[in-house]
Amino acid sequence: MTRLSELELPIVPFRGRLLQARAIVTPFSHTRITLRGDLLQLAMSSIDACQESFTEQITEHVCGWLRSHARRAFCEDVEIQKARHGFTYQSISIKDTRSRWGSCSARNNLNFNWRLIMAPDDVLSYVVTHETAHLSHLDHSENFWKLVAERCPGYLHQKNWLRKNGASLMNWNFVIQTAR
Ligand SMILES: [Zn+2]
Repeated sequence: MTRLSELELPIVPFRGRLLQARAIVTPFSHTRITLRGDLLQLAMSSIDACQESFTEQITEHVCGWLRSHARRAFCEDVEIQKARHGFTYQSISIKDTRSRWGSCSARNNLNFNWRLIMAPDDVLSYVVTHETAHLSHLDHSENFWKLVAERCPGYLHQKNWLRKNGASLMNWNFVIQTAR
């Protein structure tokens, strides 16, 4: 069986930074993740660490951590922009899709891709601006882009960032190489 000490954990992109991930085994009954500086530390429960599938456990914990941060970041940003621009919406959902960053339904439900938590905050915020502008214009008309530009001046910068780096975020996987 591969031991935890032999594991090389992948780098985790997070809010435009690169985090070094590390796993240690603890006597606790729950696995906890803490972020200190650029070190993402998984304090694994001995139960999780003993499982044959513990690399999958690590992956699940890291991806769960990213998704919960994504949820919090999107909810916060939507609320800030709502207070600033005064729109109303129905709900926020965090999705796992490899095809889109976000969407807004005719029923005012907002959907966002959790992978945006890996991008810089201003890029995540641009996607919020984009989708919440669809609450007023359900198309990509001139008026839609005018509203986006009003609410997020200089948005072309974030749009270009996504064009350049989007594919690598969409394809990112937390793959653990086990030593032999
Ligand atoms: Zn759109």
